[in-house]
Amino acid sequence: MKHRTVLLNPGPVTLSERVRNALLREDQCHREPEFAALTLDIKARLARVYPDAGPGFEAVLLTGSGTCAVEAMLSTLAPNHAKTLVIANGVYGERIAAMLQAHGKPHVVVKSDWLEAMDLAAAAAALEADPGITHVVAVHNETTTGRLNDIDSLADLCRAYDRQLLLDAVSSFGGEALDFNHPGLLAVAATGNKCLHGIVGSCFVMVRKSVFTTTGSQAATLYLDLFRYQKEQLSGFSPYTQAVHACFALQEALAELEDQGGWQARRTRYRLLSGAIRTELTGLGIQLLLSASDCSSMISSFLLPAGWDYRRLHDALREAGFVIYAGQGGLYHAMFRVCNMGDIHDSDLERLLATFRTLFGRGDT
Ligand SMILES: *Cc1c(COP(=O)(O)O)cnc(C)c1O
Repeated sequence: MKHRTVLLNPGPVTLSERVRNALLREDQCHREPEFAALTLDIKARLARVYPDAGPGFEAVLLTGSGTCAVEAMLSTLAPNHAKTLVIANGVYGERIAAMLQAHGKPHVVVKSDWLEAMDLAAAAAALEADPGITHVVAVHNETTTGRLNDIDSLADLCRAYDRQLLLDAVSSFGGEALDFNHPGLLAVAATGNKCLHGIVGSCFVMVRKSVFTTTGSQAATLYLDLFRYQKEQLSGFSPYTQAVHACFALQEALAELEDQGGWQARRTRYRLLSGAIRTELTGLGIQLLLSASDCSSMISSFLLPAGWDYRRLHDALREAGFVIYAGQGGLYHAMFRVCNMGDIHDSDLERLLATFRTLFGRGDT
């Protein structure tokens, strides 16, 4: 029997039928009032995903993948004449440093091994030593390994030293807890096509509203300047063409998230899926890369078992209708990732677990 293919990579995700059908809505021009109404509705729904974000933060909607949101956040908010401290323990933290480098913005990097937690002691030492650091930036869910970084402790540190915090929550927004009450939190970058279950093409930055009235933009680009978008989006319009169909999908995906019980219910579902995947694979003798308590609810990294290289495992699972994800950089030959964002049904999970049993030993019993 031919099964559907289920994406187990960290975005783009397998769409629900409800979101897919939203792509078939009548075409819209981005300069017409119905598109402005759509944008305003998406902004309102994004501000409701985390109710604590509602009063103080505003969603700025952009066209692009998650990287676009992160780069717009840094372009607009990382200062040109003060330093930004980057906390990196994986590919995405290191990419943030590369962006600041490309923008010519002064920055300091506290880097850990990819298998380690964020180095908060080194971060504290850097803040203590250098009053020229005004902003701190970190990754919430480091997709490289699936580690859920301890942002609460980092936010407390920022509070203690009175610094502003910027977050890449591209792979966690909508699927993990995010505390918008941290006083130093300035902005959070995310995307429509990971935990929110929309399509690639819409991304956004949740920005503290007071930023737009009390400071100026630091951007040296037009396209990635959040101030331009924020100003026009007050009436629902955008300075440049938005990905209209991606907006249809994002609106529907946000409505679906609300109907399903919001981010808490989504995290519960993710934990059920990742829990079953981790239990099955560890039972088959395959080791988790991180300790289970460090893992996010929707990304699991495993060590490749003896006798398997990534390509062979990928192809065997692909044949069975599942797309897994390789390790990055030096971890390519060591690990594989199984992510459980997207519209994954109980029947998909059962079929996946049975496939693991067939591949790794115990037979399909
Ligand atoms: C996926 C991801 C990105 C980049 O998003 P793209 O959609 O690939 O541009 C950035 N940061 C994190 C943590 C991610 O998981």
